[in-house]
Amino acid sequence: MTPTHTDCLFCKIIAGEVPGTIVFQDESIVAFRDVSPQAPLHVLIVPRKHIPSLNDLVPDDDGLVGSMVRLAASLAKEHGYHERGYRTVFNTNGEAGQTVFHIHLHLLAGRRLIWPPG
Ligand code: AMP
Repeated sequence: MTPTHTDCLFCKIIAGEVPGTIVFQDESIVAFRDVSPQAPLHVLIVPRKHIPSLNDLVPDDDGLVGSMVRLAASLAKEHGYHERGYRTVFNTNGEAGQTVFHIHLHLLAGRRLIWPPG
């Protein structure tokens, strides 16, 4: 079983200690709805392994991150946004606005997303 970091919100959601609207889970990844959605579809794709930020990735995580990205594409397709378009984002540290220090891939879709982002 993946160790739960007691002070980590996403570890608690993964462990079922904090409620979340889960849309997908397997042995290595859990995906749930963002509590403050910024688009009609806003899902967070989260590894069960506690990794604080992209700065902490190791080569052994390459397959995991690849699976997260492929899951984003699969969920976008499942919700009918794969042709219209969607955005995938990892925020890292302060200036990028990372607020939860357990890596998560944002999947946003369902409205026109501006570029560059704010
Ligand atoms: P970031 O700012 O990239 O670290 O993203 C953290 C995301 O987690 C934000 O979009 C929050 O809205 C979201 N969030 C915070 N608390 C919860 C929660 N309890 N359940 C689901 N999403 C959450």
